[in-house]
Amino acid sequence: MQGVKDRNPHQDEFVQAVGEVAEDIYEWIQDRSDYHNAQILQRIAEPDRIISFRVVWEDDDKHLQVQRGWRVQNNNAIGPYKGGLRFSSGVNESVLKFLAFEQTFKNSLTGLPMGGGKGGSDFDPHGKSDAEIMRFCQSFMTELYRHIGPDVDVPAGDIGVGSREIGYLFGQYKRITGRWEGVLTGKEMPYGGSRMRPEATGFGAVYFLREMLAAQDEELKGKSVILSGSGNVALYAAQKLIDCEAKVLSLSDSDGTIEIEDGLTGDQLDWIQTLKFEQRGRISEAADEFDDITYHEGKQPWQMDADVAMPCATQNEIDEGAAKALTGNDIAYVVEGANMPTTADAMDVFRAKGVTVAPAKAANAGGVAVSGLEMSQNAERMHWDREKLDDLLTEIMTDIHDKCRKAGECDDGSVDYRRGANIAGFEKVADAMLAYGVM
Ligand code: NDP
Repeated sequence: MQGVKDRNPHQDEFVQAVGEVAEDIYEWIQDRSDYHNAQILQRIAEPDRIISFRVVWEDDDKHLQVQRGWRVQNNNAIGPYKGGLRFSSGVNESVLKFLAFEQTFKNSLTGLPMGGGKGGSDFDPHGKSDAEIMRFCQSFMTELYRHIGPDVDVPAGDIGVGSREIGYLFGQYKRITGRWEGVLTGKEMPYGGSRMRPEATGFGAVYFLREMLAAQDEELKGKSVILSGSGNVALYAAQKLIDCEAKVLSLSDSDGTIEIEDGLTGDQLDWIQTLKFEQRGRISEAADEFDDITYHEGKQPWQMDADVAMPCATQNEIDEGAAKALTGNDIAYVVEGANMPTTADAMDVFRAKGVTVAPAKAANAGGVAVSGLEMSQNAERMHWDREKLDDLLTEIMTDIHDKCRKAGECDDGSVDYRRGANIAGFEKVADAMLAYGVM
């Protein structure tokens, strides 16, 4: 880890992500001299390449804006690089390197042939007009197109990149190359999207939670859940939770949290999905619309009392203080819908208090799994139906749960899912790298 710290100064998120994996697999690889001799962990922790480029676009006032774009291609041992694009003012090389590193293990856990990558820009889409978003996406793809391809690197959406942005990006790729091919996932249905892709991450996280509960002879019905975020992951997780008769007590955005004392109803969620997905409104507006919803400006949901917490907004959103508040309220399960939402200190609190944590690379892998299935559908020039895709998603999440459980079993009979996910994700990539020799 000292070498990783020295080589990556000021890249705290990346060092944190590598540290967590190293901590979990250290003991497990002790007897594996083949992994040690081939320096496998060091090699995975050094991206294959990082592409960084300038993105210039014109705003509606005819001023030129200069932004930075990146694609981190972390590892393609088991398949083409695959991972989302994030547009947010908080994006920098460290964040994208951590996400690409995590993605490598997550994609391996799905069992599908996908390597790990991530990309994006420090462009902040908030408050931009549709025309500005289009011009930015076109400029971004004008550089990115030369580094990607259906057998090379297949980006998708992430924070700030939804189906609208994917449409503009895909259109520009097609215009430049003259080729219609499955180079991006998260597309809309008329031009090669997959059914179930929008729902996949949120639904998949709930399927993982359901398996985790079943392993403890418990069920989701009647469980109370606090959720953060009100984007793609949070709102589809809320939908599946309501389907399973769990009680959704909160949603949030970067301005504040709504609290729903008696649990969100299906009708309220429909209204919020329209507000967020179509009108691009703020979560506070739900409290103006419904009497039983209260808005807490500037607050996160972690002070509330519930059985399960599902952080579905962003990285490091649960810090030590939040973890103590959650354990003070006897939270039993944490399911990471967002990527690395729990700080290392917060994770220590959960471990000390015996909270069962479903780590992001396992719990939110449903999204990339259905993206992998979108690639298969594009290659076949076919669309599969919703039922088939939901069955495949359920199967994949159950399989990921079982792999993590098996690899994460502790001597005292408890299960450390984070350790299990790191070991199971690492092994397949490491074995492929060994097979290729020194490179
Ligand atoms: P969206 O952009 O759709 O939604 C993100 C949500 O999180 C918004 O409600 C946003 O609020 C909120 N948020 C963002 N930053 C902060 C912050 N600093 N504090 C509080 N709230 C914040 O993104 P997704 O739902 O797609 O992604 C959420 C997380 O899940 C990310 O970590 C992403 O990497 C991860 N993920 C997503 C997948 C997917 O399929 N979409 C797949 C796997 C992981 P606001 O509107 O105010 O910014």
